[in-house]
Parts: sequence; C-alpha cells; structure tokens
Amino acid sequence: MKRVLITGAAGFLGSHLCDRFIREGYHVIGMDNLITGDMKNIAHLMPLKEFEFYHHDVSKFVHVSGKLDYILHFASPASPIDYLKIPIQTLKVGSLGTHNLLGLAKAKGARMLIASTSEVYGDPLVHPQTEDYYGNVNPIGPRGVYDEAKRFQEAITMAYHTYHGVETRIVRIFNTYGPRMRLNDGRVLPAFIGQALRGEDLTVFGDGSQTRSFCYVDDLIEGIYRLLHSDYALPVNIGNPDEITILDFAKEIIKLTGTTQKIIYKDLPVNDPMQRQPDITKARALLNWEPKVSRAEGLKITYDYFKNLSPEELNKVEHKNFEAYVKQ
Ligand code: NAD
Ligand code: UDP
Repeated sequence: MKRVLITGAAGFLGSHLCDRFIREGYHVIGMDNLITGDMKNIAHLMPLKEFEFYHHDVSKFVHVSGKLDYILHFASPASPIDYLKIPIQTLKVGSLGTHNLLGLAKAKGARMLIASTSEVYGDPLVHPQTEDYYGNVNPIGPRGVYDEAKRFQEAITMAYHTYHGVETRIVRIFNTYGPRMRLNDGRVLPAFIGQALRGEDLTVFGDGSQTRSFCYVDDLIEGIYRLLHSDYALPVNIGNPDEITILDFAKEIIKLTGTTQKIIYKDLPVNDPMQRQPDITKARALLNWEPKVSRAEGLKITYDYFKNLSPEELNKVEHKNFEAYVKQ
C-alpha cells in the first residue's frame, strides 16, 4: 500500500485531498496543528485504519515512522485575514515547514508536491498569468508574509530538486472554493454567503472592479492528483479561467441566495490584486486537465453546504474588526 503524508489535512483543501487518496487506496497520514483547520473536516476518516492523524506544527521538526511514497504540503493559512492575523506563523510554515518536509522527503525517498499560489504573481502586470511570469509582489506589504513565504517555498523546493535530486512538484493554485471552507475565514465567497445567510449587507471592497477566477474544489483536486503522478517538476497553474469582477460575483451570490440585502462598499485592502486569471495551457497539455464544474454548479453545491451549518457556526464572528485587518 502506498503511503502519503498530507499536511494541512484538517483544512479545506487538505481534507478533500485526504478523501481522494483514501478513495484511491492509499494509506493516508494527515498532519495539522489546527491553527485554521477543524477536526470536523476529517472526522469521517478518523475511524478508518487506512487513516492516521498527527496533531503537529510542521514548522518544527517532522518525524514520521515507516516508509513514505508521497508528501503533499498544504499546511499554511490561506485567507488574507488569517495571514494578517498570524503573519509569523505564515512565514514559518512556508519556509521552515517546507524545509523540514523536504528533509523528510529526502530521507524517505518520497516525492513531494507543494501548494503554491497565484499570489506568487502578486498584483500581476501580465494577464492572464502564465507560469513564466515572475510576478509583481511587494515584499513588505501586508500580503508579503504569504506571498514571499510561498515564493521562498518554490525556491527551496527547486533547490532540493536540483541539488539533492528530490522528486518535487509545484502547483500554483488559483482561488478555489467549495464545501468545508470556513464560513468566517474572510475569503470572498464564504464572506458573501455568510452575510446573505445572516441577513447582512454584502461588503464589496473597493469599487468591485477587481477580478478573480474561481475553481471548484473537485476540479482542483483532480489537477493536483494528475500533477503529482506526472513527471513534470516546474510550476503548473491549476485554476478555472472563467474570470469575473467581484461586483458581479456579489450580484451572483445575491441571486443565488435570494437575499434582499444590498451591496455596501468598503476600502480596498492594500496591494489587493486587481486582476487574476490562470493561463492553463500547460495543465491542458501536460496533464490533459481542464476544469469541468461551472461556477453556477459549484456555487449551488457550496451554498447548500453552508445553508446546513448550525446557527452557532453561522453566527460565529472571528474577525470582529474586518477593516482593521484589511486596511493596514
Ligand atoms: P485552510 O486554512 O483551510 O487549511 C490550511 C490548513 O493548514 C489548516 O488546517 C491549518 O490548521 C493547517 N496549518 C497551518 N499552519 C500549520 C502548521 N504550521 N503545521 C501544521 N498545520 C498547519 O486553507 P486551504 O484553503 O485549505 O489552503 C491549503 C493550502 O493551499 C495552503 O498552503 C494555501 O496556501 C494553498 N492555496 C489555497 C488556495 C485556495 O483558494 N483555497 C489558493 C492558493 C493556495
Ligand atoms: N473581497 C470583497 N469583500 C469581502 C472579502 C473579499 O470584496 O468581504 C474581495 C477582496 O478585496 C479581493 C477578492 O474579494 O479583491 C478576493 O478576496 P479573497 O480574500 O477571497 O482572496 P484573494 O484572492 O484576495 O487572496
């Protein structure tokens, strides 16, 4: 039986990856320190003998006994508000955490895939973003703690590949959504759906003309699975090229939820990227991959998930002073 270590296992993407690898017949070791994750995302896996969970901070030395075939490093805060709240942990998990896991991959002869991000392109001057674009990142801006940790993560991963011959894969993930996102993590989709469900106005930052391209989680997981099993070591964009302005996205959520609330405008956060769309030519050619789930289908499934949360979860307010975080 192949053995895979998945870090960030109790988070949104990590938990979906655990499900996929269990379904494919792997022995899965999930690791998480629960800083932004939740055990409820993997509660259904805990009784399985093919699944083990280690509560551990991967920025500290990582030990796993027995053989390991693959490591997927997904541990990291991912929402701008999360990484503004815990900037040092964000820098550490992308740098020290990645270093520890590469060391483990080298010791075990495992192949390692890292979760990079469209944020390595910063506020991009090239559109849509191709993998050969170097990006436009402000290292000392509020998002620098995340963007630079991820850029360092790519650099050290390539160094282990080149100098130690570790087999590595780099996925650059564009905005992905779906069930198990935290309703209060501050990202735009849970923010808007949460506001609609609580009967609050929807907060559009800036004038809403900035764009994003949203990928449904099942499509992303398929792309990652294919990339892991490919022989390609350079970065690959995985995302859905269907681009939309944030204002139009808010209108879609209003239509979907039937809320009678209105849109209100707040300040645009510093260094908020103005446009983002993946060029997925590489993923199409190398992995024969492209997204299959339309935004309409994906949003419906995600809305149904959020609708069924308990009133306690719905009303939990994690980020009381939103603007204090986003302005800086
Ligand atoms: P998430 O916050 O739901 O999951 C992250 C998980 O990592 C959480 O369970 C958290 O507790 C865990 N974690 C954080 N620091 C840790 C540490 N030091 N040790 C152990 N566990 C730790 O976020 P997500 O959306 O699932 O993102 C997962 C990964 O994918 C991240 O690396 C993120 O940068 C990347 N990514 C996500 C997106 C997206 O749209 N969801 C886009 C680009 C990149
Ligand atoms: N956004 C918004 N209202 C919110 C939350 C986010 O208008 O309540 C905007 C945010 O400014 C950004 C976009 O939505 O332009 C996507 O934000 P998110 O935090 O989801 O992720 P990002 O792509 O910026 O990392």
